[in-house]
Amino acid sequence: MSDLTIFLYHGVSDAESPGIENFSGKHIHIDTFRDQISTAKRIGIPLSMEEVRYHVCERRPFPPRAFAVTFDDGFENNHAVAAPVLDDFDVPAMFYFSTGFVESDRMFWVDEIEDCINRSEINEIDLSSADSRLPNSFPLQSDDDRIHATIKIKGVCKEAIAADKERILAALKLETAVTPSVDAAANYRKISWAQTQELDSHPLFEIGGHSHDHNILSRLSVEGMHKDVDRCMSLLEKNLGRTITHFSYPEGRHTDYNEQVISHLKHWGIVCCPSAEDGRNDEQSDLFHLRRTMVGFMGTAFPWTV
Ligand SMILES: [Zn+2]
Repeated sequence: MSDLTIFLYHGVSDAESPGIENFSGKHIHIDTFRDQISTAKRIGIPLSMEEVRYHVCERRPFPPRAFAVTFDDGFENNHAVAAPVLDDFDVPAMFYFSTGFVESDRMFWVDEIEDCINRSEINEIDLSSADSRLPNSFPLQSDDDRIHATIKIKGVCKEAIAADKERILAALKLETAVTPSVDAAANYRKISWAQTQELDSHPLFEIGGHSHDHNILSRLSVEGMHKDVDRCMSLLEKNLGRTITHFSYPEGRHTDYNEQVISHLKHWGIVCCPSAEDGRNDEQSDLFHLRRTMVGFMGTAFPWTV
């Protein structure tokens, strides 16, 4: 077997989660992460994304059980918790950051939903006036109720156009009487520029872009998409003092990017941009359609065992 598995992580956590925070397992527990990296290192060959690019460009077959570790979004725990583990095992990693969230109190909309539902003291909410796809009653009595509501609202928002999503989020904040806060859980904290620079200067680690506002790039106007990518790339290059050649698409389903997005990324000198579509790759793969394997999210098991 000479294919390549690219693992897709978001966070690694050593913090207690209040209530239903992190019920989806988006932030993997540090002990689990340590086991996964230890297993992968023992039975596979770790590659940096720059080495991945080299193999594909040169059409050189990957070594048996080649793997690469990637992180999307830009949570502080990438620096504080994940990086030391990767360093211990001498495993390289790529961190793709959404620059509009670096060193900020902004929250991703999925985390806003989770936080509103988690910290609400209201027993039942009605979002039906915000969107007809949502029921007129979400009981929030138990953790199970709250998890069910969070999953349902996230699902509707994921398919909604931006204006509809904003309306649902506004209604949710009103109904739950919660203002989402990055201080509500350690896992919500974002990486700073100093931490980003520290990761970038480490020989094992690479930094790439992941848009500025984390909007789905194929859904923006061409001008809007250009503006978002331009802001992301300019900020990364300014803060890291070098050119950036790696990127990953927000959300990353095959419908979340298109040829116009790829063409604009190439204009900036991006040479490799994986999707979040599940699957493995080989040396014939296209560097702008690489597949990744999500780890930890909603119970997805680590795909490698001994
Ligand atoms: Zn993302």
